[in-house]
Formats: sequence, C-alpha cells, structure tokens
Amino acid sequence: MKAIRSDSFARRSDAMLAMVLDANATRLRAERRPLPEPGPGEVRLRVEACAVCRTDLHVMDGDLKPTCRPIVPGHEIVGMLDAQGAGVASPAIGQRVGIGWLGHSCGVCPYCRSERENLCDAPAFTGYSRDGGFATHVVAEAGFTFPLSASDDPVKAAPLMCAGLIGWRCLKAAGGGKRLGLYGFGAAAHLVAQVARWQERSVYAFAKPGDDAAKDLARSLGVDWAGGSDERPPEPLDAAIIFAPVGELVPAALRALRKGGRVVCGGIHMSDIPRFPYAILWEEREVVSVANLTRRDAREFIALASLAKVEARTQTYPLLKANQALADLRAGRVSGAAVLVPPSNSMLGA
Ligand SMILES: [Zn+2]
Ligand SMILES: [Zn+2]
Repeated sequence: MKAIRSDSFARRSDAMLAMVLDANATRLRAERRPLPEPGPGEVRLRVEACAVCRTDLHVMDGDLKPTCRPIVPGHEIVGMLDAQGAGVASPAIGQRVGIGWLGHSCGVCPYCRSERENLCDAPAFTGYSRDGGFATHVVAEAGFTFPLSASDDPVKAAPLMCAGLIGWRCLKAAGGGKRLGLYGFGAAAHLVAQVARWQERSVYAFAKPGDDAAKDLARSLGVDWAGGSDERPPEPLDAAIIFAPVGELVPAALRALRKGGRVVCGGIHMSDIPRFPYAILWEEREVVSVANLTRRDAREFIALASLAKVEARTQTYPLLKANQALADLRAGRVSGAAVLVPPSNSMLGA
C-alpha cells in the first residue's frame, strides 16, 4: 500500500484524510477524500480528537452485523464546527462540539416517543452506519451534536462522548446503591468511578486477573477496593456494572451482590453467559442491559462531568496510527482511553 503522508492533508483545504474499514478487512486503510459538504440539517466538524472504543473493535471484528462498508469508524468525537448545511442555525461555526454513538433517531417510533430514543427502530450510529471520527473531518446531524466549552481540552473531552455517556447511563441503571462494583477497569469504568466517588459511593474495581496496571489506575482514582474479577469484594455490592465483554462476569458479579442487587451489562457485545445456578439470581437480584444512549444522557453527563471535575486519563496516537491504537486496546495495553489526534493538530501525524 502506498504510504500516505499526513502533512500533505493539513495543507489542503479541499481534501480530508480518513481511516477506512473496507468489507472483510481487518485493518483500517488511510484514504484521501474530497471534503464532504453537510446536507440539510447537518454540520461538518474539523475533528480535534476522537477516542477509540471497544465497540470499534466489535465493528471491525464483525461482532456487530456489518451494515455499511466501507465505513470510517470512531464515535467519540470532539471538533470545531466549520460548515453548516441548509436550515442549521446552531451550533454556530467555530463552536466546539462533541458527537457520540447515536447519530440519528427517527423521532416517531414508540421508543422515540417515550424518551427511549436509544432503542429507536430506525437509528443511525456514528462510525457504524454513518461515517465517524477516525478522520480529519466528519459530517453529523446538527441535532446530534453537543456543545462543549471553548476551554475544554479536546483530547480529554473525547472519551466522555462514549465511555462517559454509556458509563453514565449504566450508572443510572445501577440505581442509587452505595456500594458499586465495576468489572473491567478501562475507559468507561475509570470515568464512572470518578462520578461515583463524587456522589460519595464506595467503588469496588474488578480488573482482569493479573492486570496490575488497571488496579493501579483504579486506586489512583480513589476507589475503595481494587482486585481481580475472580475475587470477591470485602462487602456484598448493591450493584455492579460490567464493561468487559466477558459473559463469565455475569455470574461472578451476581455472586458479589447483596439480596435485591442489580447487575448492569454495559457493553454492546458480550461472549456467551455460562449457565449458572438459580440460587445466585434468586432473592430478587436482577440482570439488565444498557443499549446505546439518549441525547438527554449526553446533556446530563456533559454538565455533570464538569461539575464533578471528571478527567479522562488518555493515551494519544496520531490518526494514521489508528491500527496501533486498536491493537493496543485489544491487547489491554491502554491505560484509561486511547485517543486519536488528526495531523493538523499534532506534529506527531507528519
Ligand atoms: Zn425512533
Ligand atoms: Zn463507544
């Protein structure tokens, strides 16, 4: 494959750079494209940062039905609005905004009409069924962008757009219990832990057995206990959220719960859940899943993150190193969240 030098993109105003996933491909390919024009109701962003999510791996691996190829992955986007389509009054050009996984909802299905647009019958998802943010530019529906502050650090804000938002929806689903377990201490858990601590809950972090870096990260955020997912917490939990895509964690988390406690499965994909004895579900324990997010979740969390001073721990990569970032995430080599930075914002890209 011909090497593409990213610095050439930074100088051209009529072209963009995208990391593209082709049908049946296992790696992303760099592609020069004409700069897209936003259609009616849409806006275009100059991407400042895009975080890498485990869902991007599920898209690449085909764990999620491949609906659209080629596709530009990436759904934790922060950028500056640089063009508006017809009929768009806000956000304004020059406004910093965020874009998350939910790229469109129909507004008329029973779910949209009952404040559950996360379950919309005809949705579009950023970086899955419409092009996402592993690129220098992205087009989105204006109504699915979230205003951010001019003083926000784009790299620190990017992981909030999925890890943070989904984490927040999971935390709401977990209920108000004081003792909260987090299984899989990566991008989402390290943000949820900060919110939960701010809410004065006790947080119990469960990392992959042997993953001392994840345990250290958890301890540095002030959790009450950090251990392996094969360990029992010192006290029974009121609720547990599972972020790791590992079905075995469902019975493990159920065993850690008090009576009436709840397990929330936060991932979009999980390996099969093994059989387990009814006794660990009995006594009104519950297992629920969280799917996608609503724009309300996003607005709530963005406001809360600023109030609670949530700060993402990040590992940055130049956009052209997207495959490396994905490989590091897969191998558990990322502490906190991996974030891609396009070349125009980083000398690393050249
Ligand atoms: Zn709908
Ligand atoms: Zn995500």
